[in-house]
Amino acid sequence: MSRRPFVAGNWKMNLNRAGAAELAGVVARGSAEVGAAVECAVCPAFVHLDAVRHALEGSEVRLGAQDLYFEPDGAFTGEVSTAMLQDLSVRYVLTGHSERRHVIGETDDLVSRKTTAAIGAGLDVILCVGETIEQRRGGETDSVNERQVRAGLAGITAEQMSRITIAYEPVWAIGTGVTATPDDAQAAHARIREVLGEVHGAEIAAATRIQYGGSVKPENAASLFSMPDIDGGLIGGAALKGPGFLEIMRAACT
Ligand code: PEP
Repeated sequence: MSRRPFVAGNWKMNLNRAGAAELAGVVARGSAEVGAAVECAVCPAFVHLDAVRHALEGSEVRLGAQDLYFEPDGAFTGEVSTAMLQDLSVRYVLTGHSERRHVIGETDDLVSRKTTAAIGAGLDVILCVGETIEQRRGGETDSVNERQVRAGLAGITAEQMSRITIAYEPVWAIGTGVTATPDDAQAAHARIREVLGEVHGAEIAAATRIQYGGSVKPENAASLFSMPDIDGGLIGGAALKGPGFLEIMRAACT
């Protein structure tokens, strides 16, 4: 089963409006060179979605959001609905990012509700999972990933799985400069794919893309992406520099 690699940039709470539009323009122009071999998305802050949407026009780079709320509308101060995102041509949304789980305090249940709402509304989801350093040291990597994958997908049908990407992002590797070795990342991805098989069967497991995230850089991207169960990456810090991000995209082609 061949899976088209998928590289997404998570810009987090960075850049101003002009900077976001400029970076999006660099990615849009550069992506033409990579062509159809790799799918690419960028996820700016909510307030920059519209500017980035304009900068991406005419390119194949998809627009993504970093979060959503699961209710369709109403008295939820500060939150953003699926319809609001779709109004801005958003295609992808992240759920369960480690900063939302561990800094903001999102639970498995909330991540599941958001994932279900996003897919139900027609958005595609990048569901992020990963263990903390304490969990890794305690030998819990696979059990944590399994719990987060099963919980995140609790409301998702087999038919909807084609719109789900999993991002395995060990918490200790995010923004730290420390990257999982290709072998360690591959082992976690392989186990996540087994869990997908247990939940939705072997065919869907083989077709589902699993990105690696956690201090991916131009220097380490190719060795990570060469592993059989790693289908591209979710990129944070290195996505904020256009040339480096494009290099990471090119690494996903090989
Ligand atoms: C992320 O935010 O999803 C991420 C992987 O960040 P970084 O690449 O900076 O570790």
